[in-house]
Amino acid sequence: MLGLMQNHQLLISTLIEFAERHHGEGEIVSRRVEGDIHRYTYKDVATRSRQVANALDGLKLQFSDRVATLAWNGYRHLELYFGVSGSGRVLHTLNPRLHPDQVAWIANHAEDTVLCFDMSFLPIVKAVHGRCTTIKHYVALCDADKLPADTGIPGLLSYESWIGEQSSKYQWPSFDENSASSMCYTSGTTGNPKAALYSHRSTMLHAFAVALPDSLSLSARECILPVVPMFHVNAWGLPYSAAMTGAKLVFPGPAMDGKSIFDLIESEKVSCAAGVPTIWQMMLSYMQSNKLRFSTLKRTVIGGSACPPAMITAFNDDYGIEVIHAWGMTEMSPLGTSCILKNKHLSMNSEEKMKVRLKQGRGIFGVDMKIVDGKGDELPWDGKAYGDLLVKGPWIISEYFKGEGGSPLVDGWFPTGDVATIDADGYMQITDRSKDVIKSGGEWISSIDVENIAMAHPAVAMAACIGMKHPKWDERPIIAVVKKPGAEVSREELIAFYEGKTAKWQIPDDVVFVDAIPLGATGKMQKSKLRDLLKDYKLPGA
Ligand code: AMP
Repeated sequence: MLGLMQNHQLLISTLIEFAERHHGEGEIVSRRVEGDIHRYTYKDVATRSRQVANALDGLKLQFSDRVATLAWNGYRHLELYFGVSGSGRVLHTLNPRLHPDQVAWIANHAEDTVLCFDMSFLPIVKAVHGRCTTIKHYVALCDADKLPADTGIPGLLSYESWIGEQSSKYQWPSFDENSASSMCYTSGTTGNPKAALYSHRSTMLHAFAVALPDSLSLSARECILPVVPMFHVNAWGLPYSAAMTGAKLVFPGPAMDGKSIFDLIESEKVSCAAGVPTIWQMMLSYMQSNKLRFSTLKRTVIGGSACPPAMITAFNDDYGIEVIHAWGMTEMSPLGTSCILKNKHLSMNSEEKMKVRLKQGRGIFGVDMKIVDGKGDELPWDGKAYGDLLVKGPWIISEYFKGEGGSPLVDGWFPTGDVATIDADGYMQITDRSKDVIKSGGEWISSIDVENIAMAHPAVAMAACIGMKHPKWDERPIIAVVKKPGAEVSREELIAFYEGKTAKWQIPDDVVFVDAIPLGATGKMQKSKLRDLLKDYKLPGA
């Protein structure tokens, strides 16, 4: 017997319809590429998203055609999120931090038909448009009078005149909720990048999950600053969850430095911000050097790479801000876990609490996890056994776009490539990416653990641990360190700093001081590049 309930499809267009009707006055504030602050409401987003949909119809785009963006976090990008997906096309957020060759390769692979771009990315578009064989229309996200005359890009449209000519009336179509809504390519550290192709259903279910109190806890009373880019896994789904809850949205545009982010948090009374550790590192340094304090921020969601304990302490102890450590990946839409303490943890002393906070957190409803050993046998949830982390759920990929690389699933589970423990309360902790784990004398050393200790040293701004070949131990860890400006620490002092904080055999064999650690297109440390930089390095005693 079937239930007798209405069978409405879960569609992205319903989010913006809801936000318009119930939170029409809710604010969206954007720092623009033009440098100024732009301010409008969900009602305006809804109106202009309908104009985007009409404009796409005008270009005769078909259902599921890909519309690419090369854009910062901002209101026009938000309108494309709803206008493109809502009208049945697929939003493809290109990552502008990639090399133009990769951008062109990805645009061709995705078979993008339209490319909408912020003017700051005009040089990339100039460099690639001749090679993007499927893109028929180029749209610059600006007013008509900001369009340079001689771009060389055929038929270049200005977004404002393109949508400005359109009717603001549009009936969002209804279709199968399993239809593709957006896509995002993985960073592709090995081989060509592969795309996760999200559906309306997966995006909507993920949006519900992101908004839950034990995830990011969004509501109409919150003001959210997604520093995480809209070109990286849909800014962790925040644009959708914000519309679902009516939360005020604040977009940083291209200004991602510590001062700009801090100023925006203060001027817009942001209550919750989300981003990768490198962004918060910059902001904390700026605040520390200028002796600043937050007046409205309550919590910050940190994910994308492991959050160092020193960062959790700084936010928590120095500024009274709750850090929510979260984990996920492009293939997971991205949210998998978030680290919110349970009642039982609240009475713990600060050292014990910190041990929990450092974990990547509990699986949110909808994400099933397990850890397995080398033979694929499931390991216990005891917080000690570590193994390959596998996940399954309705917003986790079943395969990559165009079936690239064959089926990634193992008995229905997606192997994350992360190595983790899970404790009896269900808190998962990443010990490493499987390719970054250091194998020393038959034992595994977590590069994250080694980095976290270095990061707690007051002179260290950033640290990356990699394994170096060793004739006896197979591999030994070394740590590459960027010093804070004006701070000093010697190799010997830093190695001594590890004493008593970890097992002796896990202490790095050497410290290499570098000017910068290579960062990838999504702000994560690129250990493969670091290994290339240190290819002539010789381990002491090796
Ligand atoms: P991406 O698909 O580019 O978002 O990368 C996903 C990968 O980033 C995961 O598989 C993890 O290796 C890493 N990652 C994401 N969040 C965290 C976190 N909180 N701690 C440690 N690693 C993380």
